Amino acid sequence: MHKKRVIANWKMNGSQTEIVAMLSALQKDNKLLNQIEVSLCPPAVFLSSMKNLCASLPISWGAQNVSDQEDGALTGEISAKMLVEVGCRYALVGHSERRLYYGEDNEWVARKWLAARSKDLIPVLCVGESLAQREQGDTLSVVKEQLNAVLERTHSTQFAHTVIAYEPVWAIGTGLTPTQNEILEVHMALREHLVKQYDKALSQTVALLYGGSVKGENAAQLLNLENVDGGLIGGASLKYDTFAPILRALV
Ligand code: PEP
Repeated sequence: MHKKRVIANWKMNGSQTEIVAMLSALQKDNKLLNQIEVSLCPPAVFLSSMKNLCASLPISWGAQNVSDQEDGALTGEISAKMLVEVGCRYALVGHSERRLYYGEDNEWVARKWLAARSKDLIPVLCVGESLAQREQGDTLSVVKEQLNAVLERTHSTQFAHTVIAYEPVWAIGTGLTPTQNEILEVHMALREHLVKQYDKALSQTVALLYGGSVKGENAAQLLNLENVDGGLIGGASLKYDTFAPILRALV
């Protein structure tokens, strides 16, 4: 049994002061932090301070995005190597907000995934359907296509020990969530897809997170399901008072 994983995606929110406040509040939950793997993904400008701030805490950190390129004249981009240099463990790739607002398609996301993996970052591949796709009955084919874009370009040893986050687009930041059965169906399909592509042992090394409107009140129901290894949390991860109940629901 792996520890449950909880990754906090702060998006373009928060400040240095708020990160310090969150970490010092979490400090009193040290026992909890030893039972769950907690990671914080703040805006990129704050990543270089995380090593110092987390020195006495069992917390890792990650980036919300990563370039698909190693270096060069690419204004505004941040490479995987730079993220490793500031101690990142994870890099989110293919978050639906990046796909939607910045035009990242499956191929681009796959290149980011490979760039992250080649530098020993753990890519968190975000997959999920829109409401229209769910209503058309296309959920499983959409998430498999998003996953296949990476699987086609990688091999088993690279894919082992990575993370996939199932985040239905219509559940992100809306207060809406899938039913338990809907989450079970997608997570089971993802796990079986990995078994078919590689084998059972490898598929078990991949953590499958659920994300989308998780809060203290629903975390126990949504994140303790079969094949759900933890959660990717947006809005509720910004304040200790809404984040800590999610962690408590997992132990
Ligand atoms: C997210 O954006 O990854 C997310 C899960 O957001 P929220 O929890 O706010 O729905």
